Amino acid sequence: MRVPIHVLNEWRPEQTRKTGYLPADGVRPHLNESDYSTRIRPGTIIVFSDRRAYEVIEVKERPLDLWPEHFLNEWERYAAWWVEQAVAGRDMGTQPEKATWEHRPLAITIRPADQPAAKHQHYAVRADRPFYVLPEHYSVCRLCNEIPPCTHVITEARVEHEMSKAEALMSIPAGACLSCGEAITSRMKATRFPGPNLWRPDLGDNSAVFHARQACSGTADSYRSQWQKRGHHELQPEIPGSAGDDS
Ligand SMILES: [Zn+2]
Ligand SMILES: [Zn+2]
Repeated sequence: MRVPIHVLNEWRPEQTRKTGYLPADGVRPHLNESDYSTRIRPGTIIVFSDRRAYEVIEVKERPLDLWPEHFLNEWERYAAWWVEQAVAGRDMGTQPEKATWEHRPLAITIRPADQPAAKHQHYAVRADRPFYVLPEHYSVCRLCNEIPPCTHVITEARVEHEMSKAEALMSIPAGACLSCGEAITSRMKATRFPGPNLWRPDLGDNSAVFHARQACSGTADSYRSQWQKRGHHELQPEIPGSAGDDS
């Protein structure tokens, strides 16, 4: 199975594009329900954590005296910051109130979606925290019961991605840029790293070279940091037309 590369960085379920918003004052008050967004109600199936499906039983405001401590701390920090800004003359709009603060904790009650008899679980969640919403006939991985793409599939995709990167690197011809694999002509600026080639030792000493252009600089930077960790610091910028680009 092909996992899009962005999922490797930020997980999102394959089978839904729908985001659910909690039923609370001030949270997306003008929400248009569509294939992409919905209000979370009792019965809504959400991905809560650990890539598992939960059915929502209830969402309630949490009394101010029952806020978990980190919410309290965050609120106090935020309220103090707000006052500071206002005192400094910045236009801050109306003063936020604790009871309607968008990051206030709500009390959410859920249970595993596939276990109607399971014990209810209670959590405090930020009022403006969105959740992925699953269709009633959602699918899970046969092996681990996670919502796809599951942890295993992602790990496999990551390994595959690293391997194809390694293959691409191994096919770069001598003298070409180690980022894009294209030749470096005599008119192009380039950065050459003296010493052993850390990525392609088979190319010999002083062979690590990158185009100086923007597109290749990110890869050159990651080479540079590895190269500096090896104790190298003397970088010679390549002058166009000089030795080293004659291949
Ligand atoms: Zn799995
Ligand atoms: Zn390049």
